[in-house]
Amino acid sequence: MERILEQERWMARDISFICFEWVKTFFGRAFGCWHRQLSLPFTRGNETYRTCVACGARRRFDREKWTMVGSFYRY
Ligand SMILES: [Zn+2]
Repeated sequence: MERILEQERWMARDISFICFEWVKTFFGRAFGCWHRQLSLPFTRGNETYRTCVACGARRRFDREKWTMVGSFYRY
């Protein structure tokens, strides 16, 4: 009996986690991501950018000024 309860608790955790992920994705798509978590600057060719960990959008990064420039874009 206790085992079943334990399992149900784990399932409930899984389900709430999946729902949370889904809501996050849904809101990210519907209302735009806030791009709060960004990767470290990447350089590829002559372009340097940071990528949003949540949605994958990129923003150009100026290495000389060490700051982000322009707005986010999808690749
Ligand atoms: Zn984002």
